[in-house]
Amino acid sequence: MEAVENSISILIIEDNPGDQVLLEAHLENTSLIISGITMASTLAEGIMHLQQKSFSLIFLDFFLPDSSGLDAYLKLVKVSPAIPVIILSGLSDTALALKAISLGAQDFILKGEYDVQSLQKSVWYSIERKKNIELLKENNERYDIISKATNDIIWDWNLDTNKVKWIGQGLKNYLPVNTDITNIPDKFWTRALHPDERKKIVRSLHDSIEKGENSWECDYRFLKNDSSYAHINSRGYIIKNEANKAVRMIGSIQDITERKKAELETEQARIEAEEARKTQEQFLANMSHEIRTPMNGVIGMTQLLSATDLNEDQKEFVENIQQSTGNLMAIINDILDLTKIVAGKITLVQKDYLFADLITNCIKMNQYRADEKGILLHCTIDENIPSVLSGDPYRLNQILLNLVSNAIKFTHKGEVNVIINLQEQSDESVALEFIVSDTGIGIAADKIDSIFERFMQVSGDSTRKYGGTGLGLTITKQLIQLLGGSITVRSHQHEGSTFSFYLTLLKGKQQSGDNPARGETSEPNLRNALAGIHILLVEDNLVNQKVAVKLLESQGATVEVANHGKEAIELLKDIRADIILMDIQMPEMDGYEATKIIRYQMPEEVSKLPIIAMTASALISDQKKCLFAGMNDYIAKPYQAIDLYKKILQQLTPSCCIL
Ligand code: ADP
Repeated sequence: MEAVENSISILIIEDNPGDQVLLEAHLENTSLIISGITMASTLAEGIMHLQQKSFSLIFLDFFLPDSSGLDAYLKLVKVSPAIPVIILSGLSDTALALKAISLGAQDFILKGEYDVQSLQKSVWYSIERKKNIELLKENNERYDIISKATNDIIWDWNLDTNKVKWIGQGLKNYLPVNTDITNIPDKFWTRALHPDERKKIVRSLHDSIEKGENSWECDYRFLKNDSSYAHINSRGYIIKNEANKAVRMIGSIQDITERKKAELETEQARIEAEEARKTQEQFLANMSHEIRTPMNGVIGMTQLLSATDLNEDQKEFVENIQQSTGNLMAIINDILDLTKIVAGKITLVQKDYLFADLITNCIKMNQYRADEKGILLHCTIDENIPSVLSGDPYRLNQILLNLVSNAIKFTHKGEVNVIINLQEQSDESVALEFIVSDTGIGIAADKIDSIFERFMQVSGDSTRKYGGTGLGLTITKQLIQLLGGSITVRSHQHEGSTFSFYLTLLKGKQQSGDNPARGETSEPNLRNALAGIHILLVEDNLVNQKVAVKLLESQGATVEVANHGKEAIELLKDIRADIILMDIQMPEMDGYEATKIIRYQMPEEVSKLPIIAMTASALISDQKKCLFAGMNDYIAKPYQAIDLYKKILQQLTPSCCIL
């Protein structure tokens, strides 16, 4: 028989027929809606009924033929833990009945001592109570499953009683072993907070409640039972009553130690990488400085030597030295360029230039090497490309030089072709395709993807045979990307390689442009360009002193030399100078400090003198520092004589255009 809604079906397990009848009669006299009463005379019979049918309530006699006392109760509960049980007890068994209640039975009635009313009350009370207990159990189980699934801890804080309920498997990590989690000490949470943060965390929690907020969230350290601290993220929702008073808070505790650790490790790795990058940058800048200083001497002296009367053999030796220094400078500049690219410190110039001239000059610069190897070097420029383009001609030149010189380097016979196609054009810009192809050694398929990587050379063997640092293509690719373009390569071993890059370049506004390569190769023949000019040279390196003095005197200048800043300050008190050339790194007093003293502590006629820094640092930041220190201009060592003359004349006769 199925139970009607709200009606109750009762199982009575009682071996005494008299007691059975009595109980049944009493039940029928109550106002309870009973859908059915089933009788069982033994525990086994009762259990059999329970397995076949559902009941709302069980009456259990304590003394049955097949089981008795608490034993009978426990066996029954095992089969039907969710059904409320009322114990039928004799007067002498009340202690046992009470024990059964402590184990989960809902109530007990004394046989022969109950009346209809007390029976009705007991039945109703037992069913309702058990229902609530089951509901609570279900809720707790749900919490438990959630906290097990997430390993979180859930807390439920009654703000009126200040009692906190804790749920969750994770608790075992924080409580002493064997702690009863239903009886966690009141101060458990506060005590486990890290002493350095305790006050702050407790304060923030109370602040949230007092300010009437709806939730609270905080990260903190929490003591584990192995004496270590876990990093915790804790969130709580504040529940308010109708009067808008906070009465309860329910929240979670999540162990975020691993996440925190990973975050810290990532941050640490980032800091270390940044430090390593800075150290590398500094090292390369220092190296470049240390190399540039003697190189200035080598290049300057060779320049002076080439201007003397030399026989044919000597001329060739000097040319060879110049070629070698040129190669060495290219390597030093590559290293520095790469450092700048990595540090994001490359700055591009924007100027008009003659496009075809730039390309043909670049080809010319490589022509002699192609001729030496007996390779044909061709260049085809689409004639629809406007003559003047705008952008950074130096970087475009650098890209093309890299690719063309590689093509020649890795080709033994055949030809190298440079083709520039106009792909598209608008009013403002042109989209160009640059192709540099060769019939050289080619690149193996498995190496082709990595040739743009730093220091990458197809084989260690190629370094010795062909020279190079493995930086050229990295720089080339990065520069092309910086200019907004892209580069691709196709190659077959022993057949040759084709590098193609694509750039969108702005059209120039002027009709005539500047040609970057021209200035480097053709120097005007100067005579006495610095005649009558008094120059104070402040420089500690003896060779570089000699180079500068000779170069300046060769153009008619009068030169005084100071070995460091301090000496320069002393000299300036006595001599007349029109301009000061100032080295930066010097013993006793460096160029920055000397400039400061000249600018702020010397008489007006001295303090206003133009100062040009001669720095062996090619870093933009250092050059800017010179201007910031009050110098008027700077020239990087090693310098070309013509550039030095230009800079001097620019300072003394700003409108001068003879050079
Ligand atoms: P490197 O200074 O060694 O030339 P690059 O970065 O310019 O450095 O080139 C990296 C490597 O790519 C070279 O060492 C070479 O193995 C390969 N490579 C570059 N260009 C060519 C080419 N045109 N033909 C064959 N191999 C090339």
